[in-house]
Amino acid sequence: MKLFPIRGGIHPDYRKEQSSERAIVALPLPALLYIPLQQHIGAPAEVLVSEGQAVKKGQMIARSTGAISAPQHAPTSGTVKAVTEIPAPHPSGLAQTTIVIEPDGRDEWAELPAAIADPFSADPQTIAERVAQSGIVGMGGAAFPSAVKLNLGSRFKLDTLLLNGAECEPYLTCDDRVMREHAGEIVDGARIMAHALGVPRVVIAIEDNKPQAIAAMTEAARAFAEIVVAGVPVQYPMGSERHLVQAITGRETPAKKLTADIGVVVHNVATARAVHHAVRFGRPLVARVVTVSGGAVREANNIEAPIGARVADLIAFCGGFASEPASLVNGGPMMGQPLPGLDVPVIKGMSGILALTAGETNTQPASPCIRCGTCVSICPCGLVPVEMAAFIRKDNFEAAARLGVMDCVSCGSCSWVCPSHIPLVHYFNYAKGMINAQERDRRKNEQTKVLAEAHTLRVEKAAEARRAMMAAKKAQAAAKTEEKANA
Ligand code: SF4
Ligand code: SF4
Repeated sequence: MKLFPIRGGIHPDYRKEQSSERAIVALPLPALLYIPLQQHIGAPAEVLVSEGQAVKKGQMIARSTGAISAPQHAPTSGTVKAVTEIPAPHPSGLAQTTIVIEPDGRDEWAELPAAIADPFSADPQTIAERVAQSGIVGMGGAAFPSAVKLNLGSRFKLDTLLLNGAECEPYLTCDDRVMREHAGEIVDGARIMAHALGVPRVVIAIEDNKPQAIAAMTEAARAFAEIVVAGVPVQYPMGSERHLVQAITGRETPAKKLTADIGVVVHNVATARAVHHAVRFGRPLVARVVTVSGGAVREANNIEAPIGARVADLIAFCGGFASEPASLVNGGPMMGQPLPGLDVPVIKGMSGILALTAGETNTQPASPCIRCGTCVSICPCGLVPVEMAAFIRKDNFEAAARLGVMDCVSCGSCSWVCPSHIPLVHYFNYAKGMINAQERDRRKNEQTKVLAEAHTLRVEKAAEARRAMMAAKKAQAAAKTEEKANA
């Protein structure tokens, strides 16, 4: 199919060979599983179980609490040991409420919702509801509740479902392996999602460095004329939603808009597989494939781990560390986040655990900018990182926003190319957080102002009513006095 060029981008050392030939293996059940209530964008789930309660695999243990939220399910059968606070897999390391389950070893399924017999004649709302009840969130890392995106057909004029199998981050091969080993399940999930969205076309985009995945997906999709498998150039950050849409359709997503505004909804390939399980078998999302890699780990692997297994359990499964890691990363090295330790659990959006040696990390100290302009020429969003960083250094977020910092996709390409090792993307993430906080404050102030004005108006109206009542009483009394005088 015809492809369209994307702007800028880089070619880091992909190092995918460390794990790409490692077939998916299931992690043996660990001694305890830790299921955080918030593994997704949106409101945290609400606990439905209590300490000492027996649960079965797939049983809902926390329900969603809003339009943008997701429930959590028991990843295996066992007993709830505690509902407690433990550090989350986030650089802040802040604790969050977590359900701890002790597996009983039987791995016994709960009674699951019945399969949707013919999903292609089912009401789209029925599909979206099943996906919501199954706790499925974007498995490419964004962890946005998938059902919300499946409902976009009612709000936008859509023509394409784009399945993202680009996996452009170095080291990560979990999507590659899922496509090679479960192509039929992904294709079925994609067709179900396309039906729910009401789109006539599905494109499965895979970077050209995964020829076996392209072959497996092409074979699985052969019988379905509406599905096209497209090999896309190896160019980081091809897997960024907006850039992949541009490469496939030639359409550019306007600033502050969604890809749905230009007719395209993007889901990750592993998400499509989860939809297949939910619709065909009633199975909620209780496990995911995670790539464990990096020079400091003894043996790289692609592990199908129950949600809630600790990072330490996966590292132990890989034979432990070959050397002391210089850094531990949740996700890929470009956009991933530092892990606060080994005791944090695997969550639904965790695609990789990297244990990197000093040689694999950029630990060089930053030096002054030499105005080489490289960051500007490679930025895939057409931004001017060097100027934005200069404003952010002076806390001038307004000027950074005017230069488009909110359109930055945090791909990290500018930091990667900078000869002065300036951690540019950290500046932009910081600025985006500050601008969002300022925007929240502004809205709150506006809301407070509206409430205060409404209160003042109410008080004034009440005073006016009182004044009118007093005047009426006074007039009545005067009339009576006059009446008496005239009598
Ligand atoms: S400014 Fe943002 S989008 Fe541009 S290269 Fe840097 S991190 Fe990527
Ligand atoms: S790449 Fe680094 S040194 Fe070159 S202009 Fe950008 S910030 Fe300055």
